[in-house]
Amino acid sequence: MKKSIRPRLILLFYYLKPIIPRKIQLFIRQKVARILRAFHKNDWPINYQIKDLPENWESWPEGKQFALVLRHDVESLRGISNIWNLVEMEAAMGFKSSFNFSPERYEVKKELIVEIKKRGFEVGLHGLLHDGKLYSTKKEFHKRAMRINQYLKDWDINGFVSPSSHHNLEWICDFNILYDSSTFDTDPFEPQNDSYNSIFPFFYKSENTGKKVIELPYTLPQDLTLFTILKEKTINIWKEKIDWIVENNGMVLLNTHPDYMDFGNESKKKCMYPYTFYRELLVYIKTKYKDQYIHYLPCEIALFWKNKYE
Ligand SMILES: [Zn+2]
Repeated sequence: MKKSIRPRLILLFYYLKPIIPRKIQLFIRQKVARILRAFHKNDWPINYQIKDLPENWESWPEGKQFALVLRHDVESLRGISNIWNLVEMEAAMGFKSSFNFSPERYEVKKELIVEIKKRGFEVGLHGLLHDGKLYSTKKEFHKRAMRINQYLKDWDINGFVSPSSHHNLEWICDFNILYDSSTFDTDPFEPQNDSYNSIFPFFYKSENTGKKVIELPYTLPQDLTLFTILKEKTINIWKEKIDWIVENNGMVLLNTHPDYMDFGNESKKKCMYPYTFYRELLVYIKTKYKDQYIHYLPCEIALFWKNKYE
């Protein structure tokens, strides 16, 4: 496992971000991504080197071939306005997922949390402010960690995902959580691009306190990366990656953003993509892999992992 890298560059980016127009930011990211994609052609979207099974591995419950976990990070009020479209669609198809919120970036009503849970879906925390500065200094982190722990308690939830997949697993152990999901198996397009090379959950044990957190790395490319940054017009990469994870008995964990899904006619807006891409993926899993997967909420797979392997 690699330690976090490039923290100074990341901070510099976030200080400059407010003064760079969004269109230019996107243009730069697209250009950089083209170079990164060529450079990482042997380890993205699939790193064929990382298919080892975890130590003491037995199997998924009922001998299922793979595990499926769906997650949505909510970036803004636009994302909140799409939540029920997503819940209805997933529920109608027999799926469930988690919605992760940044409560000090936009308003998150308590009733929304209650309603999501009532439908059998999960709520998690997606940082606080989503400003890229959560891990900027130890002092700032401690200040925010106290507020994060308060939200976890008030909302009665146990999952955390960092904004922009930033992570410092040693510090993350300060949160009162069962699991964190701020890392990935392979993703050279993220600002902190230290891949964790696992398509299974794993434990992180704090070097200072001995406390353990279950880490759930995402294993499919994120929607923004595929459709906006890399300008893909199909979901073929998702399908190809799923097929490979299934062959290796791993965990398919996908993070998509309701903010970028076009459920009406917003497709001309930057960063939007048709929700039918996501729907097509769910249909693909449901039909091609019928009865072959165990479908968990993030908190459920974390609990399974804890009970089985701790
Ligand atoms: Zn986010």
